[in-house]
Amino acid sequence: MLIDFHTHIFPDKIAKKTMEILTKPMAEYKGGNYTPYTNGTLSDLKRSMRENNVDISVVLPVVTSPKQTASINEFARSVASDDIIAFGGIYPGQKDWEDVLYNISESGLKGVKLHPEFQSCYVDSPDVIKIIKKAEDLGLYVSIHTGTSIGCAPPLHCSPKMLRNVLRVVSGENIIGAHMGGWDLWEDTERYLAGTPILMDISFVRGYLPKDLCMRIFEKHGIDKILYGSDSPWESQSDSLTYLNDLGLSLDEKDLIKYKNALRVLDLKV
Ligand SMILES: [Zn+2]
Repeated sequence: MLIDFHTHIFPDKIAKKTMEILTKPMAEYKGGNYTPYTNGTLSDLKRSMRENNVDISVVLPVVTSPKQTASINEFARSVASDDIIAFGGIYPGQKDWEDVLYNISESGLKGVKLHPEFQSCYVDSPDVIKIIKKAEDLGLYVSIHTGTSIGCAPPLHCSPKMLRNVLRVVSGENIIGAHMGGWDLWEDTERYLAGTPILMDISFVRGYLPKDLCMRIFEKHGIDKILYGSDSPWESQSDSLTYLNDLGLSLDEKDLIKYKNALRVLDLKV
């Protein structure tokens, strides 16, 4: 079984344009020759899941202005199914943030996504911390983009050190540090986050996070807090599996990362 804890899709009518905008910085970063692995729609994610033997995908919407929140969460609710677990979106600082979280919780979504770079908010600011705290009270997870983001200029809004600051005031048990807690800041992940209560996903690390450092972080952090993720459509849903298979983990350890930890987090039985 394979559960991909980090994917993105867009409503059909805006998928093409959104993908064009988001693909540009990615293509520049990758040297010009780059094609995303889906067209950004739900149906193409499902095709990718079939082709890559992914049983369940978690979709994470990024809200880039407060006025998008309602429609994005409506879309999230509409795509939730047995094999699509939807998180909701929220914009830190939006006035009705508490109602947004209540609605997300009441409608059965499992968590919310924050993207401090796209949302220009520091992860250790009061507006973000109160969202994480309230989400914890409501039993919601908070998946947070961490580290550098391709196409986003400094300053950085969620370094491993800043995320560590957050753990002074929240337990961290409901936080998922995407991209191993600090994309392109791997040594700081080892230093500030490994061994804390947060979960981390391994999306978009293949080709960037050196394998020996990854294994050190796993060991210090605990394999039971690592989730499989791809960051589809930006990486293939099987790329992280290639990475995982090359690390030298035992079958049991790989199963924890591939699906067992996710089943526990999502409270699912198979
Ligand atoms: Zn992502």
